[in-house]
Amino acid sequence: MNWAPRVKPIQIRRLYRYARIGIYDDMLIHDIGWELFARCSDIATVADVYREGRVPCPLCHTKITRKIDPLFSSGEGGTREDWFHCPHCTKRLLWRDCRQKLREVPRCFSCYDILKITDNLLCSCGKSWTQQAYNQSVRTRVRLPCPHCHNLVRRPPAPEHAWRIKVRQTNPELKCPKCQATAVHVSGNIQCSTCGYKRRWRDYRKSLKKKDEKLECTSCGHTFRWQAWRRSTGSLRTGNPKPAREFVKNWLRCYTPQQRMIQIDTLLQTLHGRGPLAPLFIDSGEKSIRQMLDDLAS
Ligand SMILES: [Zn+2]
Ligand SMILES: [Zn+2]
Ligand SMILES: [Zn+2]
Ligand SMILES: [Zn+2]
Ligand SMILES: [Zn+2]
Repeated sequence: MNWAPRVKPIQIRRLYRYARIGIYDDMLIHDIGWELFARCSDIATVADVYREGRVPCPLCHTKITRKIDPLFSSGEGGTREDWFHCPHCTKRLLWRDCRQKLREVPRCFSCYDILKITDNLLCSCGKSWTQQAYNQSVRTRVRLPCPHCHNLVRRPPAPEHAWRIKVRQTNPELKCPKCQATAVHVSGNIQCSTCGYKRRWRDYRKSLKKKDEKLECTSCGHTFRWQAWRRSTGSLRTGNPKPAREFVKNWLRCYTPQQRMIQIDTLLQTLHGRGPLAPLFIDSGEKSIRQMLDDLAS
């Protein structure tokens, strides 16, 4: 796969040096902007692969559906959308609302008091969390305070019918990895009634992620391997493709150098606050990019 290169920091410095003295160098803005556009498009493309389970052919860019699709979301909202009732205050709840509330107003997991937000999250009872550890807990805990009465509620079991519909849509034949007979996904397990194979669904999904797969382009016939493709995207993968997507969308709506400069500046400002994201776009290390962006902002 020929991915677009990252933008050179020296160009960005030059751009800002001119902008500071009021010169809009149209050519420079144009060049940097389109380079960023190409890079952002690639970042978005790679992110789409992880969302849709479809891989662009390295030669002709036709999207090829993976047979092994490790990706249907078990994340928030995706499959745990069922309402349930708080056993304490009887309010009707969605699990993701319990999570969302804690992101807005973090509470202690042991005494349920509202946490004080400094660099860390502190509770009057003496407990503390880093922001990251707290977010992680919100994502993974099976008991969280009710958003209304703040008593602990338990995450409802994943609705089985939703799982089955998903499996049918994205993975029409769920095959037993041992005997290749048709397997089923029930109660958090993959089960085969033919050979008796049974494994936790999560572990099964994890093992699929690591598995290689030969992909054949339906349009040009080119064959390539999933793992090799995946490795080629190492510098393009991020859990936060939003800034790249935004840039792609907004760049195409720009008609003047000023509008283009604003979009470039918006992207760089976004990257400024997000350390590890910046090296996906700019050809340098995290530290020196931060230094550069600090300089540009001052
Ligand atoms: Zn349901
Ligand atoms: Zn506490
Ligand atoms: Zn409640
Ligand atoms: Zn089997
Ligand atoms: Zn092809």
